Amino acid sequence: MLHSSDKYQDIRDAVRALCAEFPDEYHRRVDEERAYPEEFVDALTKAGWMAALIPEEYGGSGLGLTEASVIMEEINRAGGNSGACHGQMYNMNTLVRHGSKEQRDFYLPKIAAGELRLQSMGVTEPTTGTDTTKIKTTAVRKGDRYVINGQKVWISRVQHSDLMILLARTTPLAEVKKKSEGLSIFLVDIKQAVKSGMTVKPIRNMVNHETNELFFDDLEIPVENLIGEEGMGFKYILTGLNAERALIAAECIGDGYWFTDRVTAYVKERNVFGRPIGQNQGVQFPIAEGFIEIEAASLMRYEACRLYDAGEPCGAQANMAKYLAAKASWEAANACLQFHGGFGFAAEYDVERKFRETRLYQVAPISTNLILSHVAEHILGLPRSF
Ligand SMILES: Cc1cc2nc3c(=O)[nH]c(=O)nc-3n(C[C@H](O)[C@H](O)[C@H](O)COP(=O)(O)OP(=O)(O)OC[C@H]3O[C@@H](n4cnc5c(N)ncnc54)[C@H](O)[C@@H]3O)c2cc1C
Repeated sequence: MLHSSDKYQDIRDAVRALCAEFPDEYHRRVDEERAYPEEFVDALTKAGWMAALIPEEYGGSGLGLTEASVIMEEINRAGGNSGACHGQMYNMNTLVRHGSKEQRDFYLPKIAAGELRLQSMGVTEPTTGTDTTKIKTTAVRKGDRYVINGQKVWISRVQHSDLMILLARTTPLAEVKKKSEGLSIFLVDIKQAVKSGMTVKPIRNMVNHETNELFFDDLEIPVENLIGEEGMGFKYILTGLNAERALIAAECIGDGYWFTDRVTAYVKERNVFGRPIGQNQGVQFPIAEGFIEIEAASLMRYEACRLYDAGEPCGAQANMAKYLAAKASWEAANACLQFHGGFGFAAEYDVERKFRETRLYQVAPISTNLILSHVAEHILGLPRSF
């Protein structure tokens, strides 16, 4: 197959070898128990993969987003779900690029050593949804502290992370020239916050994704936990969101290959009407179509990562990669479920689990409609709709 070999083969082989120690049964059990894949994430951390984006001087591997995307792709391709641990990857560059020297010196070596996890990012709010600049969570400076009040929703991995990057408004919307101004990002020590003003309420959801509602009631955080300049947080968070989109694209590509590999093997073996079902073109074509789209999405992913790693604008490519990859994996998922017939619905085949997991990416971290809107307005110059 086209995707079996590229210049990242060494990384692919190493991640595949680690993932092979966590077979389908492991991920199935974790899903059934609604548990966190602690042993799997630990193994990835110990092998250094979760420190891929940390510069070598801080004990990481100093790799780029491209390599990080290959790691995420391989996890999903092996039947796992990077959603349990991708936060550290997309949050990392926010800290590396915008954090102060003191923040980098203090946190990066500990994260690289696996002593701390930076797995959470708190952006989404219940009453404002995708309209991020309207968020209502506020951070008000009082001496050497910021006092946080407000609410977030769908904030993932909070119970399995030590640190969270939090977006809050530091200047009221009415007092800024542009709505993207006056927002700031903070590094929150989760364990400390839970003791002093942050409440975590888990949300049971369709996938086994540890995600939560957060309530902030006069949570105080030290001023030194502000990342970068006050008021510039939206710009910083966009860097992280572009990284997130490129990485999610890679995860969808991994899922897409998983579905394609599984269904291809199945339709060769399954005999109905005296021949393999895979001999029928009605079965072959949707599988081939999904595969073509995954390969195309993968190229856009590489382009988004290349630009990101070069420090160039990559918003358009990261969004388009996420759009193409989420669509491709969803089509591959449908073909895989369809051609497994009734067995696609049986938990022991893992298709229904992966089907649920990959469906998320039509909605989060950014919905398909919002990507289309970004392309229409910002790339094609069509009139602004909101
Ligand atoms: C499992 C899970 C994990 C998540 N993890 C995190 C996390 O860790 N951190 C975090 O900050 N957030 C997280 N999110 C939130 C996620 O990013 C949002 O759910 C997503 O961005 C969509 O926002 P919303 O749910 O508020 O939908 P809304 O903004 O309410 O939109 C709902 C739907 O309406 C449509 N829509 C909205 N506006 C328009 C428009 N102008 N034009 C056309 N269509 C439109 C879109 O199709 C969209 O899907 C997570 C969500 C889920 C489900």
